[in-house]
Amino acid sequence: MLPLLKEAATEKDISSNIAAFQEAYDQLMPLLASDIPSTEFSFQLLTNRPWVTLIDKGYLMANGVVSTRIIPSGKARAFESAFQMLVRTRNPPKDIRKWWKTNGKKLELLFEAVKWPQKELGGDDLFVLGPFKVHNVKGFRDGWLDFMKKGVEFVAKLGARNPVPGFSRALYGDVFLVGQLTQAHVAAWYNPSEDSLYLRQVSRTGHDEAHAMLHELGHRYYQKFAKKPAKKLWGKWHASIRRSSDKKFPSHYASTNAEEHFCEALAMKAMGDLSREHLENFDHIWS
Ligand SMILES: [Zn+2]
Repeated sequence: MLPLLKEAATEKDISSNIAAFQEAYDQLMPLLASDIPSTEFSFQLLTNRPWVTLIDKGYLMANGVVSTRIIPSGKARAFESAFQMLVRTRNPPKDIRKWWKTNGKKLELLFEAVKWPQKELGGDDLFVLGPFKVHNVKGFRDGWLDFMKKGVEFVAKLGARNPVPGFSRALYGDVFLVGQLTQAHVAAWYNPSEDSLYLRQVSRTGHDEAHAMLHELGHRYYQKFAKKPAKKLWGKWHASIRRSSDKKFPSHYASTNAEEHFCEALAMKAMGDLSREHLENFDHIWS
């Protein structure tokens, strides 16, 4: 999994990194404009350090922007592209001048981004919905915003019915409504190390989004709240389906491992999509 946004990055992620970012930029620019050949070792030696600083500090600042700034709709695509570059870039390029031609503008966008207006709690960009604090990073408006809000509310309602005992304890925290900042083809994902949740709009019905969000909350429950004996029993049930020639997993993805199986079964149960045989075993183990 790619490293993701930090949960609840703050103004400090911007303010404490911008000076070093600016300094590295000021060091790098004259070097790029100089006539030292890109292939010369001394050039690489001089440019690597400010380049690494730009990427490291830029990544932290971009996280700060995502959490605290309103991203203007005309800039959303450019910012997503810059963010993706910062997430994916690891090692210094062989030719920094060539790299800069493609990516310099993306780094420079950060100078502008830190001046974008701040989100205020209660507006369309940052609001509380049931147990969740929702960051509308994508800048959804009107119909699509209502659609996403309804989806999150729907999930909060289904989750509060506790598809497994105490599941409502997993309903909390920051939910980021994103475009393609990270994983491109999934409706939701959960970052366990940062305990944050991401949601994308992928369908017109909302079914896939709601399922995916419940599935991801299932990961949080499984990793933070599920009791060991139940997990052990669940592991045995998973293995027994794996060995069996006639039993099937509730979904194709559920066959991945016991945890994914749990998350799929939980989401399907909450949505009323789990078949009777699976439901009986699920409830037997988890209640
Ligand atoms: Zn999963």
